[in-house]
Amino acid sequence: MSTTMTAEQIASIAERTKRYTLFEWGTQDVDPFVVERGEGAHVFGADGTRYIDFNSVSVSVNIGHGDPRVADAIAAQLRKIEFASPYWATEVRAEVGEKLNALTPDGLEKAFFTLAGADANEAAIRTARLVTGRRKILVRRRSYHGATMGVLPLAGDPRRYAVEGGVGDIARIPDPYYYRRLVDGQSEQEFCEHVLAETEEIIQLEGPHTIAAVMVEPITGSNGLIVPPRGWLTGLRELCTRYGILLICDEVMSGVGRTGAWFAVDHEQVSPDIMTLAKGLTSSYVPLGAAMFSGPIAAAVQGVPLGSGLTYQSHPVGLAAAKATLEIYESDGLIENSAVMGDYLRAGLRELAARHPCVGDVRGAGLFNAIELVHDRETKVELFPLTGPQDPIVREVTRTMVNNGLLAALRGPWLMACPPLCVTPTTIDDALAALDKGLEVADRITSA
Ligand code: PLP
Repeated sequence: MSTTMTAEQIASIAERTKRYTLFEWGTQDVDPFVVERGEGAHVFGADGTRYIDFNSVSVSVNIGHGDPRVADAIAAQLRKIEFASPYWATEVRAEVGEKLNALTPDGLEKAFFTLAGADANEAAIRTARLVTGRRKILVRRRSYHGATMGVLPLAGDPRRYAVEGGVGDIARIPDPYYYRRLVDGQSEQEFCEHVLAETEEIIQLEGPHTIAAVMVEPITGSNGLIVPPRGWLTGLRELCTRYGILLICDEVMSGVGRTGAWFAVDHEQVSPDIMTLAKGLTSSYVPLGAAMFSGPIAAAVQGVPLGSGLTYQSHPVGLAAAKATLEIYESDGLIENSAVMGDYLRAGLRELAARHPCVGDVRGAGLFNAIELVHDRETKVELFPLTGPQDPIVREVTRTMVNNGLLAALRGPWLMACPPLCVTPTTIDDALAALDKGLEVADRITSA
């Protein structure tokens, strides 16, 4: 039910939020959107204005906003038992564990439930080190795996033995960033082979016997939505197997229907040794993450202390939200809708690209999409670099889209196009019309 507020009430909420709380990452010079409620692919401001949520908040509200089925499941669990020790068993923990065993690629067997993506990734790294006895982790140059700093080494008790030395000891492998890294008209296939050969050289030079795992987002999310050429993930899996290194796939953003398949790894039928999830697992109705471990890894830790744990691990309310959410993906056909609407959205984005010189590239899979903005299509110089001072025109582009009913995320040169998976063609058409206006503003500073 909507309760429209006055301009004074809205200003007061924004002002008190700024006065008493801090906003993440950036400076505190923000003009926060005061949200009231959400419904499907839309959110409503406190003044009653409806906006298309083109980023599913944090590429995470996958089923869409305001689903009463999830709210009811959460309430029912709260009435049963609000919290349970991570050492206890609950019906909902058994059910979601069993469901993820069935949904995730063959070979992934056991779930370790966390609160979010970062701690799922930390559990993945720690467990990889535990079972291999090696320390080094290879990661992509452009990647994001979470924001925790690693406080366990500070512990004054034996739990710190699991992570002595902190995260440390990482090396970087190249990105399969075809749009930016191809040389001399290479085909995607040739480019893919080149990136894999470079990766193999890094593995050899680092020393396979020192590397516990390669950890990648199968499709990089917040660092450019880099869709790899077909065969890259399969090639990486083969390299890991050949050199006896574990493959960890971070599907925190790409997982659970976002790419038009249950998981991004499904597009190449790749089975990682560890896969991490969060965001879409509960569609962010409440926090929950998971690290899925392969049978051999689960067996290897059977008799040794796991070295990971949190107070709210396997939280029954998070699990109740996950159970309800996973049922909704299936009952509402959201994975299929993500694939079909993704094709429809990209066709519209390509049509915009043909008219707007600022659009250098359109890429994506399912409803996981981005356009890359450039000064000039020949030189591919980024219109808004990721680092350095922000161009004032970024705010103008964003404001123009907001004024046309579209909440969209612009991060560096990438404009994300990731609406909830329940989105309809009509809503996509409306979003594209608003985006058209925003791109007109961006076009003004291109060199075209
Ligand atoms: N991994 C990826 C690929 C992400 O995109 C994110 C967050 O955006 C994380 C991990 C961290 O997840 P969280 O913020 O839930 O800790």
